[in-house]
Amino acid sequence: MAGDARDSQYLLRNAVAGAPLTFDESKRRMVEASRWIAGGINSNFRAGISPTPLVIERGEGPYLIDADGNRLIDYYLGMGPMILGHSPAAVKAAVAAQLERGLLFAAQSEIEIEAARLVCALVPCAERLRFASSGSEAVQTAIRLARAATGRKTIIKFEGHYHGWMDNILWSVAPAPEAAGPREAPNAVAASNGQDADAGRNTVVLPWNDLALLERRLASEDVALVIMEPVMCNSGGILPLPGYLEGVREACTRHGTILLFDEVITGFRLAAGGAQQRLGITPDLATFGKAIANGFPVAALAGRADLLDRFATGGIVHGGTYNAQPIAMAATVATLTALAEPGLFDDLDRRGRRLMEGLGEALREAGVTARISGFPQIFNVALDVEGAACDYRDLAAVNKKRYVAFTTALLRRGVRALERGAWFLSTAHDDAVIEATIAAASAAAREI
Ligand code: PMP
Repeated sequence: MAGDARDSQYLLRNAVAGAPLTFDESKRRMVEASRWIAGGINSNFRAGISPTPLVIERGEGPYLIDADGNRLIDYYLGMGPMILGHSPAAVKAAVAAQLERGLLFAAQSEIEIEAARLVCALVPCAERLRFASSGSEAVQTAIRLARAATGRKTIIKFEGHYHGWMDNILWSVAPAPEAAGPREAPNAVAASNGQDADAGRNTVVLPWNDLALLERRLASEDVALVIMEPVMCNSGGILPLPGYLEGVREACTRHGTILLFDEVITGFRLAAGGAQQRLGITPDLATFGKAIANGFPVAALAGRADLLDRFATGGIVHGGTYNAQPIAMAATVATLTALAEPGLFDDLDRRGRRLMEGLGEALREAGVTARISGFPQIFNVALDVEGAACDYRDLAAVNKKRYVAFTTALLRRGVRALERGAWFLSTAHDDAVIEATIAAASAAAREI
């Protein structure tokens, strides 16, 4: 449907002059949902949406159709997974074929071997892998492996980076400025009530993009693992400074510390081989999820064979009833096969760049200062700030309230973008969809 004449006219009309969309039926069903589902949502990250969390009827290409019958251009994309858009034909066909062959075997399947082969062919660090069912789990698998392999306890994570919701790693994800402590030696701030403080005892939080501070901490030679988002996508779309990742790579090697890139967002999104391929730095380990299977619950820990093979002896436990679930593996093979097509990432780059530029122009023309940073496939928009951000502390000046007004105004014009600033792009967002989005953004920017 995307891009036909009727569609793009409808989109443009709606974006610029249409009556604002309403979400009353979503609101009504959320009240109903809350009778059985705590808060009406099954992940806390789906809360706090303005004007209401949406109830979705179906997804098609770049669109979601909600309970009110609104057709929305979607830039949430399931929080990142839907790199081929909603319900792509190739993934549906692969899943349908696998449905006929069976659902779960507690044994190996041909399809998981093919999925693993594809990941190892595409990702620079991936000599071996283990599949899991969520990014959070894959990260936990990596932490255990790193401690076993090094005989050390400490792990280093960075302020503003997110690596799942488990007790040992959910520290300083978005700490309030008054709790965060000095920039050079941040407090580790728990993100949840009920989080076990003891589980964070061996988790050290540092500011990202500061090689000297990291070097100083690594010199104690007690650090098992350094874990980071290679591009800071969960907060602010911040890029690594020139030379930073190279420096981290070298320092980790020198101090016998394992380097992990958490590519749950960047994997199969910045390039077929993830951020590590696009930026040219190979970590020891990497975690993947989201775009690896275009909407199915698949994650992976991949990396050096000498490390991953430690699971093979049974000395390090990694389990999971649903790991490498065959239907999800069929989706993985179909998704990775599609993403390996030559030219696909060039097209995404071109369209994403146009979107970044168009949003920038729309805001500028309305007199709104904006910082748009990141990569065309996943970028961040922040209002009332200028210049590049370097670490989490630089995000304090962002006008979040005004940005929520912007995304709310966009939603009323049929464009759904995350309120925390991230924009995810899919191959289904064609030129007409991008132009309609920019038109909606012009009108929304004037409104705020
Ligand atoms: N790491 C990163 C970088 C993520 O963005 C996320 C999810 N947003 C996770 C880990 C956790 O993945 P999951 O939600 O699949 O557990």
